[in-house]
Amino acid sequence: MTSVPLVDLAAQQEQVADEVAVGWAEVLKTTAFVGGPQVSAFESEFAAFSGVEHCVGVANGTDALELALRALGVGPGDECVVPANTFIATAEAVARTGATPVLVDCVEDTLLIDVDQVRIGPKTKALIPVHLYGQTAPVEKLRDLGVPVLEDAAQAQGARRHGVTAGGLGDIAATSFYPGKNLGAYGDAGAVLTGSAELAAQVRLLGAHGSPRKYEHPTLGFNSRLDTLQAVVLSAKLRRLEAWNTARREAASRYTALLSEVPEVRTPVVLDGNEPVWHLYVVRVADRDRVLGELHAAGIGAGIHYPTPVHLNGAFSSLGQGIGAFPVAERVAGELLSLPLFPEITQAQQEYVVETLKKAIR
Ligand SMILES: *Cc1c(COP(=O)(O)O)cnc(C)c1O
Repeated sequence: MTSVPLVDLAAQQEQVADEVAVGWAEVLKTTAFVGGPQVSAFESEFAAFSGVEHCVGVANGTDALELALRALGVGPGDECVVPANTFIATAEAVARTGATPVLVDCVEDTLLIDVDQVRIGPKTKALIPVHLYGQTAPVEKLRDLGVPVLEDAAQAQGARRHGVTAGGLGDIAATSFYPGKNLGAYGDAGAVLTGSAELAAQVRLLGAHGSPRKYEHPTLGFNSRLDTLQAVVLSAKLRRLEAWNTARREAASRYTALLSEVPEVRTPVVLDGNEPVWHLYVVRVADRDRVLGELHAAGIGAGIHYPTPVHLNGAFSSLGQGIGAFPVAERVAGELLSLPLFPEITQAQQEYVVETLKKAIR
């Protein structure tokens, strides 16, 4: 064994290559590059997969979050609750609407937003739980607070909580089809999911220059659409997503078994009622940077998600929250280590990762 990548997109491409080639040939022939019938077909398929009424394809996951917030009426002067332990885009989308992200620390074991620390104020206009690493947040504890819930489901396509699929747990949800996500396009893409016809219509309006009909623009909007070529890729991959997620679950169980006798490595904790889809398999170790260096030296593409909590990034220095503001998120940021995980990973690859990890920690 000489190397194990963090993700292996080529293995997925091989499986869908023929279908994508046929689908793309059709798009090239008809030249319906924007808004082709393949886009609405994918939107229906992904809505059905997620168990919600409406899906609106957009240009990327960050736009999906921003458009969902704007559809909820979020703007300058408002506040939105966001976990401190997430990818920057969750907070970035809030800031782009002119609203302020109000950060909340994460729970020590699951690393998900600590819902017991969420406080509602007069300016709170949305709560944004993130289904981090492929595991849904305990959204039901936020739903009774009287403020709309926007799920950040970018890492959780197909994940379930008490049998309900991510995207259907709140009022509206945003997801990303960035190439490395469980359902990844061949470029940037994203979608908004919702059970509300009004919210879906508003997102569609905002993403199409605020235009309900050609050359009518009652509202100031954006250009944020799902390309037809990407819709072809996403439909082909969606047909395989359930099987891929099952393979990820098996790989995650194997890591957990292989690491069960290694007390120096804290393996992921799954919240009761959750069926994760293991976008990432995140362990925790002491002396993480040295361990990561040794994995890299052995050809293992381990990563860190994420090395810096939201508030300690320069982009959010205006929040005025320095070190000590979110102690759990800050402490775990120095311990997190994402091991390679993708549907096609082999037992031999996983054993190599674990053997190398064991040598590095001792
Ligand atoms: C990937 C991701 C996003 C942003 O998606 P893009 O398509 O890259 O804009 C937002 N939130 C989370 C949690 C993500 O992982």
